[in-house]
Amino acid sequence: MNILLTGGLGYIGSHLALGLLKKQNVNLTIVDNLSNSKLSVKNKIRFISSKNFKFKKLDLKNKNSLQKLFKKGKFDLVFHLAGSKSVKESQIDPKKYYENNILGAINLLNSMIECNVKDIIFSSTATVYGSKKINCYSENFSREPVNTYGLTKKIIEDLLIDLDRKKKIKSVILRYFNPAGCHASGLLGENPEGTPNNLYPYIIKIIKGDLDFLKVFGNNYKTKDGTGARDYIHIQDLVDAHLNCIQFVKKKSGIFNIGTGKPYTVLDIINSFQKHCNFKINYNFYPRREGDIDIYYNKISKAKKILGWSAKRGLKEISQSTFKFAIKSK
Ligand code: UDP
Repeated sequence: MNILLTGGLGYIGSHLALGLLKKQNVNLTIVDNLSNSKLSVKNKIRFISSKNFKFKKLDLKNKNSLQKLFKKGKFDLVFHLAGSKSVKESQIDPKKYYENNILGAINLLNSMIECNVKDIIFSSTATVYGSKKINCYSENFSREPVNTYGLTKKIIEDLLIDLDRKKKIKSVILRYFNPAGCHASGLLGENPEGTPNNLYPYIIKIIKGDLDFLKVFGNNYKTKDGTGARDYIHIQDLVDAHLNCIQFVKKKSGIFNIGTGKPYTVLDIINSFQKHCNFKINYNFYPRREGDIDIYYNKISKAKKILGWSAKRGLKEISQSTFKFAIKSK
């Protein structure tokens, strides 16, 4: 099976590439514009998997290169993970998100239609739901994103739903909760340039010794200890969810939340590093971050029932793999 993976050198993409390379009869092509990833990841994927794959530095905004790739590639299936993903940045620079995410997806879908590629698995986000009063999200909740990042994902979802209705492209839309954790080798993980906005990349910098302490945003949320609670899903479980979709999308389209169903607070995570890695994260309380909500997590029943998938790993595996990656990348 010829598979195209967009954004394949990124945090999620690189782990998915390893999962795909383990499968029999997969001929993998990765494209990435390297805007938020490093070329060295390509060699790490080759080293860990001992398998070969094609790689092309390509920006989905470049329609002509994409068309050429599709004419040569004879793809059976596309995993579309490429895109800009910072909520904060999307509010400051919405144009970048319209172009990278929406225009990129339109070019990709047009190439698929032109070359008769019928199936796609798309990386969406629980951010499409916006902030709800009920915090256990199920797939049939209305989508009311409160930032440009979430809006661009919702628009791409709508294009996919329309193309499914018109019987042009079948799609699986995966709405991720909070992906976390790293590859068991300790060689791959999330390590953005500069000061990270998200919790785990920030903690990685603390473990590496680049930052001194965690700023815990808010201690008066309506949660058991006052700090914000999220549904953290181990990257390896997330990969398994994608792999389960390969057979499914051959038959039909679907939309699935991908999370564990168990929310953990920021203090739970700090304590987990102490308990499972014997590492003390120093922290101070800071005011709430604008736009943050108390708690949200997945209602897991749909993916379990229909895809036969549920998360197998918990906070212990997330902490230990994160710790290993941080130490190795010092
Ligand atoms: N958070 C924090 N300090 C940080 C980054 C995040 O206390 O430096 C908290 C944040 O307020 C939220 C949780 O950690 O309760 C997860 O934040 P993240 O940005 O990783 O995910 P999101 O809020 O987008 O779900």
